[in-house]
Amino acid sequence: MARICCTLPGPDIGTNIDLMRRYAPFVSAFEIRLDLLPRGASVAGIFQELRGDRKRYARIFDGGEIEFSVIITLRRTRDGGAFDGTGEEAISILKTAIEEAALLKDAQGSDLHGSDLQGNDAPGSDLQGLVAVDIEIQSEAGNFVSWFDALRSEKGFVLIRSFHDFNGCPPDLSAKLAELARVGAVPKLAVTPRGIDDLARIAEAGREWCCSGRRAIVLGMGVYGMASRIAPEKFGSCISFASPGSALAPGQLDAGVLYREYRNPPPNEHTPLFAIVGNPVSHSKSPAFHNARFREKNLDALYIPLLCDDAAAIPRFARIMDLRGASVTVPHKEKVRSFLDEEDQGCRHTGACNTIIRDMQKDGAGFRWRGMNSDIPGFLHPLEQFLADAGENAGVCVIGAGGAGRSAVYALVSRGCTVLLLNRSIERTRRVAEEINAAFPQSVICAGLEKNSREKISEYRKLLVQTTSLGMKGSETGDPLHFYQFAGDELAYDIIYTPAETLFLGRAKQAGCRTINGEAMFVRQAEIQSGEFIAAAKKQAQGRE
Ligand code: NAP
Repeated sequence: MARICCTLPGPDIGTNIDLMRRYAPFVSAFEIRLDLLPRGASVAGIFQELRGDRKRYARIFDGGEIEFSVIITLRRTRDGGAFDGTGEEAISILKTAIEEAALLKDAQGSDLHGSDLQGNDAPGSDLQGLVAVDIEIQSEAGNFVSWFDALRSEKGFVLIRSFHDFNGCPPDLSAKLAELARVGAVPKLAVTPRGIDDLARIAEAGREWCCSGRRAIVLGMGVYGMASRIAPEKFGSCISFASPGSALAPGQLDAGVLYREYRNPPPNEHTPLFAIVGNPVSHSKSPAFHNARFREKNLDALYIPLLCDDAAAIPRFARIMDLRGASVTVPHKEKVRSFLDEEDQGCRHTGACNTIIRDMQKDGAGFRWRGMNSDIPGFLHPLEQFLADAGENAGVCVIGAGGAGRSAVYALVSRGCTVLLLNRSIERTRRVAEEINAAFPQSVICAGLEKNSREKISEYRKLLVQTTSLGMKGSETGDPLHFYQFAGDELAYDIIYTPAETLFLGRAKQAGCRTINGEAMFVRQAEIQSGEFIAAAKKQAQGRE
């Protein structure tokens, strides 16, 4: 199991100790960032805090596969840190901190590792292996490395040699790892993937490195790197970094969120992955929903947010990372169909697929992709009473002709409604109407998303369904029907669930309308997906037995 390391952001030792106490239940390592502390601050207090409360810090002391659990770092501004002094000053500050850690051991006799959790001293053991020092490969650290070598063998301190690339992902990651490890250090590769192709490449390099028992820290920074922070085990990495509260580095998660949502229990290198694939995905409630279901069933499976701009890259990523299924969201619901081997009626009728499952074939001859549309039954779920009361041929209005809009229109006409469809791009409206009218003649009428359509909308106002992405988190000030005054007798249904009340829904409520937000749809469609993901994870577990 990898260690999760909480970076301590200072600005002083007292604040760091408060943070250590708060985050001790969630993490198994701490990083002391000397560059974020005042010059000359002594780190002895941090080591005293650790040794003074071994019960609280049990996760730090429990060795696991990787012994070091306190990392000392001094990052320079050019390497993404805050230290703007010279190379010599940097080395001198690092030396002082390391000497403090070493002296503490010498002075205390019984030490950090020297007592068990009941406080019984076990003489002879020491800080052995607990402390690691992170030195950038860019630093002129030749002197430091030879000075540190003596301490390494005497006290078992660990050297981490790191390389950060904040702008991209260099071509030969394996060679970079080998270069970093040359002086007997644990290599740390922190690069910035530009998409899921890069992310898969980082995982391949990390896993290849660690398969022969070598250790490495491998990290994808930035918004595309989130998977490597959540599941370092899938990247061959022995550590992942998290922050106490707001992110200290791009893409970093709060250590408590990381523990509660994704790593309780932690994944391993064989854990099958599931994901929400799209852009954006950070607002999604799907990871919390599906991980809770996996936990309930005691299944070894992990669901992550996977920011993705290129749907065509999904199959390769899936092969490398053992992605077994995904919820598909904006803007990929149509594009993922290009690699499906099989799809359900809902996908065929709407041209939109919101669930993909990668099934192992019965004869063991590789994998097949299967697509489903769980948005259709999900969408209808909170409308059952309305549909029963409205009877045949009810006139309803749908705003938006994207993936979700199409599903909504198909769901409503398949239940006997006539739909007035409005969309910003009139071309798209016509295309959807044509396709659905081919299967359900004269069931869809088109109009422009503009003032001139107000009268027409009034005719179909029994149910107004908002399916555009306007109004969701990030575009909260948007209301695609801003030109329409609610009469008060409409049922207004906005399929957005973050925020819980969009501008569209708020205006409807104020006018006295009954309202439904996207929560019920989300839960129902997610329950259907969950059944599929749980079945896939069970198959994977059986295959491994
Ligand atoms: P999509 O395929 O990308 O379609 C986006 C739709 O929004 C299109 O109709 C687009 O119109 C319209 N749109 C975007 N920006 C607009 C603007 N500024 N003004 C007017 N219209 C605009 O996305 P989708 O998959 O249909 O998803 C749409 C929304 O539904 C998202 O917010 C998503 O979170 C939500 N959703 C909720 C659930 C749930 O379970 N509750 C399920 C699925 C989706 P153009 O064609 O003119 O670009």
